[in-house]
Amino acid sequence: MSDWTDQDNPLHGTGIDTLAVRAGQSRSAEGEHSEALFLTSSYVFANAAEAAARFSGDEPGNVYSRYTNPTVRTLEKRIAAMEGVESAVATASGMAAILSTCVALLSSGDHIVCSRSVFGTTTVLFTKYLARFGVTTTFVNPTDFNAWENAFNENTKLVFVETPSNPLCDVIDLQRLADLSHSRGALFVVDNCFCTPALQKPADFGADLIVHSATKYIDGQGRCLGGLVAGPETLVDEVLGFIRSAGPTMSAFNAWVFLKGLETLRLRMDAHSANAQALAEWLQQHPAVEKVYYAGLKNHPGHTLAAKQQRGFGGVLSFVVKGGRSEAWQVIDATKFLSLTANLGDAKTTIVHPATTTHGRLSDEQKRDAGISENLIRVAVGLEDVNDIKADLARGLDAL
Ligand SMILES: *Cc1c(COP(=O)(O)O)cnc(C)c1O
Repeated sequence: MSDWTDQDNPLHGTGIDTLAVRAGQSRSAEGEHSEALFLTSSYVFANAAEAAARFSGDEPGNVYSRYTNPTVRTLEKRIAAMEGVESAVATASGMAAILSTCVALLSSGDHIVCSRSVFGTTTVLFTKYLARFGVTTTFVNPTDFNAWENAFNENTKLVFVETPSNPLCDVIDLQRLADLSHSRGALFVVDNCFCTPALQKPADFGADLIVHSATKYIDGQGRCLGGLVAGPETLVDEVLGFIRSAGPTMSAFNAWVFLKGLETLRLRMDAHSANAQALAEWLQQHPAVEKVYYAGLKNHPGHTLAAKQQRGFGGVLSFVVKGGRSEAWQVIDATKFLSLTANLGDAKTTIVHPATTTHGRLSDEQKRDAGISENLIRVAVGLEDVNDIKADLARGLDAL
């Protein structure tokens, strides 16, 4: 079966539903309907000549599952088709996707410009580990375009961003940042974990590479860790080369779970978005709530841009309660079924206090700059009945 592409449906195409269910599948001789799970570390050859040809690369085919695995390959093809790019490679986790991208494409002396509102571990990877190998990073306020422009230097090779940002849902103009990156000769990399290709296709706005934590919405049910890097074949092949040598490969079992997750991705993202919108509107009118951060709200500064570059507003929102840390903790502790965990992208709604967990290692000044106040609460809205989610939050809010 030839690879499917989504060229005719750039962003809103109905095609993505088909791609999510069908792209990349090749059936074995058994004729299985559901994608086969190939739990095998290595592969056998018909004869010595075939083994030699496979090892030399003269003949395509499987050699060893650190290099290729048919189940993983199906997932890679499916994500590439959904993102509307040529190629993708799967990794053991989202962080492995980001690390592999940087190690494969950067050298000592190179410079990264990164949004300061990215996943916390990404910041640690860049500042603590890549720095040791001579790769430096400048972090910028992602909504301040002048800050982006001023952060470049002659060694800037890579620009890294997440949109919408975590936890304040800042929306960053992908096209503008892609144009800036390219005018300065840098690669533009987008972490598309919060939206997934069901809601946002960064390649349509000029992203060179798209990275994912499949652990979140692509799985959608909190079972497996995984990551992906998607983009043009020339760049993905570089990343693939590193993964084959270094080994942060995705397991076949995890790839199979993600394939099942993708079949319902669009339905889930629409349901997460609808629940988040209803919850944001309800929170906004609650007397104990000072402010709600969700790009689906008309008064959010990123609303118009999000409506342009996304197909939906996603499942993550934050809100500020009247008071400080103790009031925020009261609301969190009063919930009965929401899961108190920093994870997101799950059918189960999660709630967290960013200032003392996900963003706890920031200095007071960094927290102030990034808008992480002591009375801020983040909710990754799940698929439960939204009236029950409201009622669980109302326990604490009504008591303030
Ligand atoms: C969770 C997350 C990651 C890291 O993914 P892992 O699968 O946990 O390694 C990277 N980026 C974003 C936006 C995330 O939410």
